[in-house]
Amino acid sequence: MANELNFRYYKPKEEFKFDITDMENFVYDMSRCIKCKGCTWVEHTYMPGAKFMTRCPSATKYEFDAYGAYGKMRIGHAMAEGKLEWNEKALEVMYACTLCGACDVGCKRNLDLEIGLSLESLRVKAVQDGVGPMRAHKKVAEKINKTHNCFGSPHEKRTDWLPEGITPVEKADVLYFVGCTASYINKEIARSTVKIFKSAGTDFMLMPDEWCCGNTVFSVGLYDEAKSLAQRNVDEMRKTGAKTLITSCAEGYRMWKVDYPKLLNISTAELGFEVLHLVEYADAMVKSGALELKKPVNTRMTYHDACSLTRLSEPWTPYEGKRGWMGCVEPRLQRRRGQHGVYAQPRDILNAIPGVNLVEMPRMKENAFCCGAGRGTQAAFPDFAAWAAQHRLEEVKEIGAETLVSTCPWCKNNFAGAVKAGGDDVQVLDISEVICVSIEG
Ligand code: SF4
Ligand code: SF4
Repeated sequence: MANELNFRYYKPKEEFKFDITDMENFVYDMSRCIKCKGCTWVEHTYMPGAKFMTRCPSATKYEFDAYGAYGKMRIGHAMAEGKLEWNEKALEVMYACTLCGACDVGCKRNLDLEIGLSLESLRVKAVQDGVGPMRAHKKVAEKINKTHNCFGSPHEKRTDWLPEGITPVEKADVLYFVGCTASYINKEIARSTVKIFKSAGTDFMLMPDEWCCGNTVFSVGLYDEAKSLAQRNVDEMRKTGAKTLITSCAEGYRMWKVDYPKLLNISTAELGFEVLHLVEYADAMVKSGALELKKPVNTRMTYHDACSLTRLSEPWTPYEGKRGWMGCVEPRLQRRRGQHGVYAQPRDILNAIPGVNLVEMPRMKENAFCCGAGRGTQAAFPDFAAWAAQHRLEEVKEIGAETLVSTCPWCKNNFAGAVKAGGDDVQVLDISEVICVSIEG
């Protein structure tokens, strides 16, 4: 019996695929976690000091092994072996996690384990087992169902953000997918984005009837709801004939580029249109000369890498194959290790703005510390989300930055809340606003 258990995941040529609806696909990954905690610490070769040395918001906040990816892997493995059932604490541990992907890239420095997909599959399992998601997540799902946005705001007011003097065209190669947050809460980001289009001479269209991207429902394991939104949104996008979809929200960007293909079992390339974040588009416009960054923005500024624009944004390719001896897979598998996220473009834009003194935080690029807001965290664990933003803000203050810039409304709001709570003298801006200040000069 002991041998059967020990060797269960060593069976040669075991078939598996990247399908998060069946946790069995990732039990091997869970079982091979060696508890080295590379998913929690930023390795010393990247880390100039001892002060900001953790990468996992969950393990850092809760200071208990269960909350790190290594703990969650053990919980999942124990469940797969029938040694543990869901209880209130296990559910809390699984959801008090920003699904930020820092553990996944940390683990893949040394091992080829799919920690991020394991975490997603465990949330899907929680829903399949009738215990997940958290009550707050269910409320968000109800709002999306009723109003097509995650705030429960009136659907007919979705385009109220449009500024005077800028009108989308009926048909264009570029479609701006605004997202719920910029449509209803951070209208300044949507307005800045279309001003950038106007300044660069780019005609843009909107979705004839834009709905939520489904980030929260996907992230909390409501797979069927997320899949139906993915199918609906991709169908609507294809019907428009637009060639490029641009978002100003990092979470929406990840949904369109990575998680819609994952949900629909296609590759990113098979979507049939290009998905860009505003910074990729604006960087190209600046470099081609179509967008001029003229007016100085005199500030010591730092840039926060949003998880969903960076380590979580590498293109998706479905995988189906066999796992053999020592976990070797065939056919060969191209791992997503987070190094090819969108890192250079926002930095190039900010460095091209006269007066900007861009300084980096110790934890940057794929090692950046999550703001704490995304993927359902703020809805169910507002205190944890606020703590993560305050923790990151300490890093901002440590390097003496006056301005903190990101590329996601979720980051902006969470950081703005932390600044307000702490009475700090740090200006929090979205990169679209910074670009607008410079082009409008
Ligand atoms: S880095 Fe990977 S192997 Fe190491 S403890 Fe974390 S999940 Fe386990
Ligand atoms: S996804 Fe982020 S918060 Fe969750 S375990 Fe991994 S590093 Fe920690």
